Amino acid sequence: MKDINEMLSDIKSELSLTLNAAEYMLWINGLTGVAYTTERIIVCAPSENSRRALEDNYAFKFLDACAAAGYPFKEVTFTTEKDAHLFTDETPPAPSAEEIAAAKNQRKNPFVERYTFENFVVGDSNRMAFSTAKNVAENPGVNPGFINMNPLYIYGGVGLGKTHLLHSIGNYLFENNPSVDVVYMPAHKLSNEYFSALSQLSSDSNALRKFEEKYSSVDVLILDDVQFLQKKGGLQDVFFKIFNDLYVKGKQIILASDRPPKEINDIEDRLRSRFEGGMMADIWTPSIDTRVNIIMKKLESIKVKLDDDVIFYIAEKVNTNIRELEGALSRIIMYSQLNGSRPTLSLAKEALKETEEKNDVVDSNRIIAAVSDYYHVPSADIIGKKKNKAIVEARMMAIYLVYDLLSLPLINIGQIFGGRDHTTIMYSRDKILSSLTGDGKNDKIIKDLKETLNVE
Ligand code: ADP
Ligand code: MG
Repeated sequence: MKDINEMLSDIKSELSLTLNAAEYMLWINGLTGVAYTTERIIVCAPSENSRRALEDNYAFKFLDACAAAGYPFKEVTFTTEKDAHLFTDETPPAPSAEEIAAAKNQRKNPFVERYTFENFVVGDSNRMAFSTAKNVAENPGVNPGFINMNPLYIYGGVGLGKTHLLHSIGNYLFENNPSVDVVYMPAHKLSNEYFSALSQLSSDSNALRKFEEKYSSVDVLILDDVQFLQKKGGLQDVFFKIFNDLYVKGKQIILASDRPPKEINDIEDRLRSRFEGGMMADIWTPSIDTRVNIIMKKLESIKVKLDDDVIFYIAEKVNTNIRELEGALSRIIMYSQLNGSRPTLSLAKEALKETEEKNDVVDSNRIIAAVSDYYHVPSADIIGKKKNKAIVEARMMAIYLVYDLLSLPLINIGQIFGGRDHTTIMYSRDKILSSLTGDGKNDKIIKDLKETLNVE
């Protein structure tokens, strides 16, 4: 018989995959287990307000997560500490092996359900990535005309929708082309699997071959966060073989990373050139219009209405990435539910106050995101090596602000900016410094950016 809290922790991990971090922390993290029967699980919420919100908004998601974790409950009851004793004598018979297997079988689609093309808001910042991803999902392994779509390599900063697009490809194929065998793997998991195969070699001499075969036999291989593909231990050699195997068979390979191949330091050249050999699409910080559209889409899906001024306030304020945008939105909705008051502009401001205080701690990511937004240059390029005029200007400004606001040693700033030498950092800093006249263009930009970052 499984311990209720052990069970709950499996269910929570499933929920952490489907909910965004803020929702998860607000509603799920604090739950504790009370009891369960074959049909029903009873969990305790920290307050009556959150109990009610859970009952209204999360019961289905909770049951989905139970099924995904292999617990075939049909019902969930949310209670609070005060009433928990009413349920504690429900005697828990363990779900049978068949029941667990049956529930696991129900979990046919391995992709995150809400990460679909339909739920993806398209704007200038992600149009290219969206349309190439869609194209590949519709015609995996087929290159239209002279355009080589294999591999498709999507890159851009955190929280900008890369994983969402990768799962959209998976979901699309699952729906429309179920015979296609699609595998999605984050690179760090692939690394773990590889090293565990290596360690089994002494007892199972085929362990490595099985690993290789598992991936060489798929129709579509999706590898997320490829910057984490470890160089040590021969993993990249094996992956190179898998890549070539798939490639010659015309199987589709899709990769995503926070940076372009040439800026991943820890990667073998031959693999890098393979990654660069197909279609590359970058995603950058969405414009304010796109942010507004994303908020509206989100509200539509959770059936919540917000006034235009509130929507605009969030869109304007949260300019780093979409994950944070969703977090801010959840926070406001939760805040209004907990307080039982309408989500007005002043309530929204109140709700985001804490994050604002947190945001007062400027870090280099926030500085780079703000500069990226201001200059319309992707963060990846600011850190990266490209040298066109706009990028160089944005980069110098970002370097200057990191220097000015964080007072870090030049060597460390160099590391933040893609491993640049400290003399390069000094050069950028001095270049900006010498351009400041008190009321010139750069003075104004610095003033605006500091305002955005909430400093001084
Ligand atoms: P990344 O993998 O680039 O770090 P994710 O794909 O995990 O980012 O996206 C973070 C969150 O933002 C997810 O909840 C995702 O659904 C949402 N998101 C990102 N881009 C969009 C978009 N264009 N439209 C709607 N939601 C988006
Ligand atoms: Mg991701």
